[in-house]
Parts: sequence; C-alpha cells; structure tokens
Amino acid sequence: MITDKNNRTIENLSGTWNLHNGYKMPYIGLGVYKADDGEEVINAVKWALEAGYRHIDTAKAYDNEEGVGIAIKESKIDRKDIFLTSKVWNSDQGYDETIQAFNDSLKRLDTDYLDLYLIHWPVEGKYKDTWRALEKLYKEGKIKAIGVSNFLKHHLDDLMKDAEIKPMIDQLEFHPWLVQNELQDFCKQNDIQYEAWSPLMQGKAFENETLKELGEKYGKSPAQIVIRWDLQNGVITIPKSTSKDHIISNSEVFDFELTDLDMKKINALDRDERIGPNPDNFDF
Ligand code: NAD
Repeated sequence: MITDKNNRTIENLSGTWNLHNGYKMPYIGLGVYKADDGEEVINAVKWALEAGYRHIDTAKAYDNEEGVGIAIKESKIDRKDIFLTSKVWNSDQGYDETIQAFNDSLKRLDTDYLDLYLIHWPVEGKYKDTWRALEKLYKEGKIKAIGVSNFLKHHLDDLMKDAEIKPMIDQLEFHPWLVQNELQDFCKQNDIQYEAWSPLMQGKAFENETLKELGEKYGKSPAQIVIRWDLQNGVITIPKSTSKDHIISNSEVFDFELTDLDMKKINALDRDERIGPNPDNFDF
C-alpha cells in the first residue's frame, strides 16, 4: 500500500485524510483563484466534479462563489459528498463582521454549511476576534472544520494562546521552491494539516529542469510530478486550472510513486523563495 511520509494511505482522487477533529478532507482539490465568475468557473468546477474531484477551494476574495455554487448544484452530486472551502477576507475580519461575511458566503454559494472556512491572512489585531467567530460557527455545526491560511509559526503560537479550538488546517504557499520544513514540523506536532496553495508555482514549475527530467522518467507532466510530491509529503494540494484537459491530467497521479531519492531531489530544489506575498509583510 502506498502511503505519505506520515503513513497515511494515498488511494485515489476522492481519497481523504482525517483532520484532528476526525472530519475527512480530500487530499486533492480544485483551486479557483482568478477563475472568472460565470461560465469559466462553472465549467471548471463541473469538469472537476465529472473527473472525480470532490474538493473545491474558493474564497470571498476570488469573487466567484456564485459560480461555484451553481456548478455544484448543476452537477447533481450530493452536497455532502463535496468538500467545500471558503475564506474570510481581510476587510471582513473581526467577530461580528466575520459572522456576516460567512453568512454572505453561504448565500452566494447557495449552501447551508461549509466544510472548511479559513482566515485568509493573519490581519494583526483582528485575527483572534475572527477566530472566535469561526469557533462559534463551528460549534453551531455550520462549519465542519476551521482553519487559517498564511499563518506562520508565531501567528499560530499567538492564536493558540487564546483559542479554545486549535486550527485544523494551515493553507500556505508551498511548492518545490518554498518548503518551510520547520513550519511543516510545527504544524505536524500540533495536528494542524498543511495545505499547499500555488502548488504549481503558478506555472513556473513547468520550466524547471529537474521536474521536466522526472516527468520524462515517470512518463508524467511536471505538474503531475509536483502534485504527487505534495501527496507523498503529506500535504493537501489544490492545483488551479480552468482547462478541462489540465483539470483531468492534474488528477492522474495515482498510478505511479516517486522513489525516496526522487522525493529528495525535489526537496533539494527548496530555495526559500516565495512567488506570493510574505505573511509578515502584506499590505492588503
Ligand atoms: P497554481 O500553482 O495552482 O498554478 C495555476 C496555474 O498553472 C494556472 O495558470 C493554470 O492555468 C496552470 N496550470 C495548471 N495545471 C496545468 C497543467 N497541467 N499544465 C499547464 N499549466 C497548468 O496557482 P494558484 O491558482 O495560485 O494556486 C492554487 C489555488 O490555491 C488557488 O486557485 C486558490 O484556490 C489557492 N490559493 C490560496 C491562496 C491563499 O492565500 N490562501 C493564495 C493563492 C492561491
């Protein structure tokens, strides 16, 4: 049986890992950042669900929650079989504001609960009140799992000082150039599942020679190599595409396994380099 580095099984596209509250989260999802609301996002989500994806990652800030909701409804797949994530945007942080933002997201998504709701960025002076709102909504059963995004170790430490419930997820920039081993270890010690955003380096992964060579060796695309590397590293991943072919091919990562040596080759590409904003220094 094939497992990740924490000995959890990696089976198929609808396969899940347990979060620390026991809730099951599919380890591959479709990201929809910069997918236009309307036809573009509706088609992408429908194609993903047809291909067997059961996890969609959106956010208020992506401005496409309505399209995601329409695609889910039109897919005729039971809502309970789809893992749906959204995120509270920075300008909506604070206790009352978050409750309002959450209810607005539910309306746009045309659903009565979320599987996962994340604090999108660690807005100083606000994120603890935001977290209290997430805890309340979680206790009411309106969110099945709660978490954060772009929280570094010191943000997590600070949040957990006052939190009643530990985050189940931290969604972070993660790809072969930005591995952040210490942060990964810290999350693991605290039972916080690591989740990768921009896993494909927004396309830069395709130009990397090591990834291209490994692609040739396994008969796979560089995208498939990176997605498989995420899974074997125990990281949940949400590659984005609006192309039907890429959505399908990004999910075809269950018929090969990277050797330990090849995992190490990819780990060695790490250069602590971000393609997105630094969570310690963002201005939005
Ligand atoms: P990504 O790394 O997933 O790369 C997406 C790009 O790669 C797109 O341009 C797409 O067209 C291209 N692509 C995808 N598959 C391909 C393939 N097989 N062949 C060739 N090109 C391919 O980038 P991303 O969208 O930034 O990140 C993924 C998801 O992570 C987002 O959609 C979003 O859901 C989430 N995200 C979260 C945060 C956060 O702050 N929490 C930030 C950024 C992204």
